[in-house]
Amino acid sequence: MLDIERIRADFPILKRQVHDKLLVYLDNAATSQKPEAVLVAMDDYYRRYNANIHRGVHTLAEEATAAYEGARRKVGRFINAYSSREVVFVRNTTEAINLLAFSWGKANVREGDVVVLSLMEHHSNLVPWQLLAQGSGARLEFIGLDAQGRLRLDDLDALLSRFGERVKLVGVSGMSNVLGTINPVATIADRVHEAGALLLVDGAQMVPHLPVDVRALGIDFLAFSGHKMLGPTGIGVLWARKELLQAMPPFMGGGDMIKSVHLRDSEWNDIPHKFEAGTPNVADGIGLGAAVDYLEGLGMADVHTHEQTMAAYAMERLASVSNLHIYGPPATERGGVITFNLMQGAELLIHPHDLASILDREGIAIRAGHHCAQPLMEHYGVPATARASFYVYNTVEEVDQLAEALLKAQRVFGVT
Ligand code: PMP
Repeated sequence: MLDIERIRADFPILKRQVHDKLLVYLDNAATSQKPEAVLVAMDDYYRRYNANIHRGVHTLAEEATAAYEGARRKVGRFINAYSSREVVFVRNTTEAINLLAFSWGKANVREGDVVVLSLMEHHSNLVPWQLLAQGSGARLEFIGLDAQGRLRLDDLDALLSRFGERVKLVGVSGMSNVLGTINPVATIADRVHEAGALLLVDGAQMVPHLPVDVRALGIDFLAFSGHKMLGPTGIGVLWARKELLQAMPPFMGGGDMIKSVHLRDSEWNDIPHKFEAGTPNVADGIGLGAAVDYLEGLGMADVHTHEQTMAAYAMERLASVSNLHIYGPPATERGGVITFNLMQGAELLIHPHDLASILDREGIAIRAGHHCAQPLMEHYGVPATARASFYVYNTVEEVDQLAEALLKAQRVFGVT
């Protein structure tokens, strides 16, 4: 079990006041807060051994290279990669998926081929594939949702049998940033592989919150962001099996991604450097390594248990707020994400943006909007939803405060 009070003491920002109230930070699906250990690791790099990496032969460059490559090894171990050379550092999930679409996609997806996505995808797992489809003449197909916000695996089966080997890739989120649904990745991987296709998992919400073992889950490509897992912004990961990465052409050209350069052609560097052109984000890579250490210290199974407990408590507690509709599956099938609207029938009683503003006056940070999942909003027939999302430092008392603030908002708007 997590010791929440001890954990909270590690996060300086949690001591801050917002509108004279102690901050209640419930916007973790957007980005997480950072523990002291991550802040110190990055500060230490800039203060003590700031240098460019890989090429330098002086002490600082060697220390910086060791720290950055050490972070890569930590990330590789964290997801049980076969080798840390399979860990490509990028800026975020979005860049990881773009890298995949522009490199692997352009090399492997032809006119008439099919990429299967789902209705619950974040824009970052939709738009890169739209760009690929527009350029290549490939076709996009979508797995729908059942009434509880789960992926309809019968849709997946139907698409795989309808399009057969024309399906080159299936791309789904490991956990929805809106519904909180944890998708059955291993089951999906089996079916995708049986059909001869590859599986991309958008791990932006999965890697920070669940134990992830890419081998056991049978994932081929995994994308995730450091800033959602206690690390800094500006660093993310594309993981893929070694042979897939080796066969992929580079995404961007420049320094560090080459072995040798001539005026008219060049020889590419080995993976992962082939995909990391230019000076990388050294400080943030080191910060991500420290975040991984911190999460491993807590234990990802306990992190997940805590968040499921929070989700279950929140679903029960918010049921006492009249006209509050929660989207998505039962707490046992979700992570710590609760998306809701105050509505009567199909009509919003309070717009989520107004709700978020009122909650902010109480020091409570939630998110309101389409959460970069506009097709999902269309599916539910709403322009926006409110979302509370939890992490390792959130408490059930904060859920109580959220519920009280929602009742207050209802009184302000006269919709009790
Ligand atoms: N996918 C999912 C499921 C997400 O929740 C997010 C972030 N909201 C992203 C992708 C994009 O992450 P980033 O903005 O860090 O690239």
